[in-house]
Amino acid sequence: MYSTFMTAPCVRSAHPPDCTPAIKSPSATADDRSLYTIPMSLLASQRYTDRVVASPLVLVQEILNTRSAGRPLQPDLLSSPSSANAWLAAALKEWARLSGMNAPVIEVDTAGLVRLQQLRDNLQFHLNGAGVPPDWAPQDIRGSLAVTMDKSGAVKIVPKGKDVSWVISAALYEISREDQMDRWRRLKLCKNEKCSVAFYDNTNNNNSVWHDLQICGNAANLRASRRRRAAMSA
Ligand SMILES: [Zn+2]
Repeated sequence: MYSTFMTAPCVRSAHPPDCTPAIKSPSATADDRSLYTIPMSLLASQRYTDRVVASPLVLVQEILNTRSAGRPLQPDLLSSPSSANAWLAAALKEWARLSGMNAPVIEVDTAGLVRLQQLRDNLQFHLNGAGVPPDWAPQDIRGSLAVTMDKSGAVKIVPKGKDVSWVISAALYEISREDQMDRWRRLKLCKNEKCSVAFYDNTNNNNSVWHDLQICGNAANLRASRRRRAAMSA
């Protein structure tokens, strides 16, 4: 169970924004483009990969993939409250579609933005731990849940909290639920640390390490092959 997560000051510097993967470029409507500099019909994850979670865990993948990555470099969607709000509206729409639940209207202010950045950094740390400075001092992140029974007798566990507190509660709940079904380990960060795109591994053996074999895997294999040849000829 992942009822809590460790949190700490931002570690974005531990994951350089330069990145090699090419950008997926689905089309967008003019109305979408008017909302932000990227098409907001597009999920943050769809900027980088088509290996998107098909369950409410998509909210967690979305949080991870708000980071700046790709080539050309895509913007960090948690760089300002306005960009965070635009992204979150699309992400919660997708979460609601996949969960069958209503998502609240969230307003991200400056303090909330910092909390989202901390959540993202800690999720990234717990998924691969790459590049975290040695003096990094994690703290707990906590969310709240409520158990409800409606008039039909249906019992549900639902996230509690207002604005960003609700987002944190929902993200931790989705992780907890996926972990109980042994699927949390399928959400991964690309092994290429300059990429670190979050992708969902739905292969039978759950043994993918690259978000895209053609983009990050082949390049790594080529580098390894060159190193081996250089070592043999030395
Ligand atoms: Zn990658």
